[in-house]
Amino acid sequence: MEKVSLIKCDDYIQENVDNAVRQAINNLGGIEAFVKAGQVVVLKANLVMKCNVEKAATTHPSIVEAIGKMCLEAGASKVIIADSAGGPFTEGYMGGIYKACGMKEIADKNGFLLNDNFNSFEAHLPTAKVGKKFLVLDCLQQADVIINVTKLKTHSFTGITNAIKNMFGAIPGLTKVEMHGQFRTLDVFGDFLFDIQDYFKDKLVLHLTDAVIGMEGAGPSNGTPRKIGAIIAGSNCVAVDVVGAKLMNLEPLSMPNIETGINRGYLDNEANIEVLGDNINELVVKDYKTVMPNNYKPFATVVPQWLQPVVHKLTTQRPTVNRKKCKGCKKCFEHCPVQAITMTPTKKGGIGKAKFDYNKCIRCYCCQELCPFGLVKIKSGIVYKILHVGSRKKIKK
Ligand code: SF4
Ligand code: SF4
Repeated sequence: MEKVSLIKCDDYIQENVDNAVRQAINNLGGIEAFVKAGQVVVLKANLVMKCNVEKAATTHPSIVEAIGKMCLEAGASKVIIADSAGGPFTEGYMGGIYKACGMKEIADKNGFLLNDNFNSFEAHLPTAKVGKKFLVLDCLQQADVIINVTKLKTHSFTGITNAIKNMFGAIPGLTKVEMHGQFRTLDVFGDFLFDIQDYFKDKLVLHLTDAVIGMEGAGPSNGTPRKIGAIIAGSNCVAVDVVGAKLMNLEPLSMPNIETGINRGYLDNEANIEVLGDNINELVVKDYKTVMPNNYKPFATVVPQWLQPVVHKLTTQRPTVNRKKCKGCKKCFEHCPVQAITMTPTKKGGIGKAKFDYNKCIRCYCCQELCPFGLVKIKSGIVYKILHVGSRKKIKK
């Protein structure tokens, strides 16, 4: 039976967060069960983009502060906050994110370090299902212990993002774009996420979720903050995600990454979890605005080429942008793994604006995730809508 700790936490007042995180970890045997004196601990936060905490796209600094302080109490020699956002993995780029997301302030206050090692390490995993060789952040490679400090959000590609998906940030900067290009469909991408989890399994000891305020709707970056009021902790990423999915009133097995995790042996089944702490039924947000995971398969390639644009449009969810509003910043263009975006002027001329080639697009939705202005929206084709009516299974009330 996998143990997952679930503790009610209504706000980000530091004292309340400190108490909730401590209780969550104590239920699992205390911080000493995970961190030993002298160890270098990396707190792998979710710092997806440069934004303030009110946007609820990134792990709240009070959660990182609470767990970081506990690591220092346990005798950690260093506590390092790290992530690789969607952009270049450089000091300049990450420095702005650390500041905007509140990480610099808590690091200065508590004696934590902000990762300043922007090297990559070539990981080899002969037993991997799909990723036998890939680059990871060198700071994670050098760490004695990794604590995955995640944010519970909807995700246009994977349905939800939490403990399983957050470790994709172990891949440095723009290499993530290549990985999306290499592992295109959700099932293969999911296997890659578990290859990453497998690679770090000896030191990735704990997953701690900020589910105080989650994100609903167009996550992981451009959705709406939504109060859930909980902290989740556990050492099994799939079990932690099952609890996260339930809080969002989702049927956990409707989330492909959870299913992949069970197939990969991370959990026998979704019922094999003992929830410690508060009653999960009292914390479920019944009207949480969830999204369907993107089960896009390029089956339209079996129809004649001239028919493909129509078939693709009708049968999939596709990214769209109002070209009049597009600011022409090129963020989406730079991060599209398959060069499906061009920057072209509108009929009236002017600066280049994003234009999508839906035949090339693999529906990874990185463009939606990374548009700093929230202008990329996901639109469902009519056939797709009909086929997916009622497919967002809810848990029984
Ligand atoms: S256009 Fe957007 S959704 Fe399509 S492949 Fe490029 S980044 Fe992914
Ligand atoms: S990221 Fe957004 S604003 Fe920038 S070019 Fe793309 S659609 Fe336009």
